[in-house]
Amino acid sequence: MSSTLYIHRSKLLNNLNAVKDKVGDSVKCMAVVKDEAYGHGMVQVAKYLHDKVDWFCTAKLVEALELRKNGIENEILVFEIPPEGSEQQYLDFNITASISDLSVFDRLKAGTKAHLHFDTGMFRLGMLPDELSKALEEMKASDLNYTGIYTHFANSDVKHHPRVKEQLRTFNSIRSQFPRELMTHTANSGAIFYYGDESLYFDAVRPGVCLYGYAPGSDEIAELEPVIEWKSKLVQVKKIRQGDMVGYGSKWTAPEDGWLGVVPVGYADGIFRGLTNNFQVKLNSVPVPEVGTISMDYFMVFINRTKPEIGDEVTILKNHELSAKNWAKKIGTIPYEITTAISPKIERVYLD
Ligand SMILES: *Cc1c(COP(=O)(O)O)cnc(C)c1O
Repeated sequence: MSSTLYIHRSKLLNNLNAVKDKVGDSVKCMAVVKDEAYGHGMVQVAKYLHDKVDWFCTAKLVEALELRKNGIENEILVFEIPPEGSEQQYLDFNITASISDLSVFDRLKAGTKAHLHFDTGMFRLGMLPDELSKALEEMKASDLNYTGIYTHFANSDVKHHPRVKEQLRTFNSIRSQFPRELMTHTANSGAIFYYGDESLYFDAVRPGVCLYGYAPGSDEIAELEPVIEWKSKLVQVKKIRQGDMVGYGSKWTAPEDGWLGVVPVGYADGIFRGLTNNFQVKLNSVPVPEVGTISMDYFMVFINRTKPEIGDEVTILKNHELSAKNWAKKIGTIPYEITTAISPKIERVYLD
């Protein structure tokens, strides 16, 4: 193995507990494990969390079916619009469908569990406020098993954003038209941690990125800690001299004599090429800079003191210091994109 991803389950649990502390005991937790649990491994994460959360949420039906195949019995909400022809599977596998479009009412099979999804200003999935009366009619005329209603915020990753309150107001007026029994949920990680005083927890919350240890926005959240640790080993070590130029395009020139360590991890593994000459790793717990253009399967590090050895341990991501969040800041993205880009072919090892 060129590298290994260690997933620290105790940290996953700490992050979950931070959510629970924030929202209180009466609010259910719907853990979002879409897209391989943001790269951490959906089935393993769900197996660990199944008795600690109420629900799981996935992006796609196929993910929910994968959870069922692996013995997960929790309620599962699927966010996507049910793919044509998949309707019977929702019923057969006791999976809750999202009704985000009026066309879905007629397609789902009698008795299928469903959550109504209203678009209150995100303008992605969901029925628009204008479609409310049509939705109420469809609901009365159908024989589905309605168990919930929700919306999704477009700006909750930013504190004090006025659009969050506007969406909440719109949602509350829609919500008031439906039976009280419907389980109501709106909050993603940003809403949970940045909008705790806005009465938007309702009956359940949908934490995603915070479970994996990242604040959703630029305001840090002290209670969270990254769950992932990514390690590799030097596969080659060589002497380089001042003036030697490293990697494709010779984009880095050695400022002094030293050693170059070759790490067998590259952009095909999920280290964005845009991080070239712009991040650090640890070599046997000493920080060293990545140097030269990151290539598909390798990057290099420069060491100017003690000579490294083949097999020396390289820590690529760990805790806050070597965090996907730092990478995200450097290349203008979010930690979600960093962790979901880590190649599924890299071995995941789950630690307690
Ligand atoms: C992804 C997603 C979430 C979780 O969002 P985070 O920002 O990761 O907490 C919640 N709800 C919906 C509808 C989503 O698509």
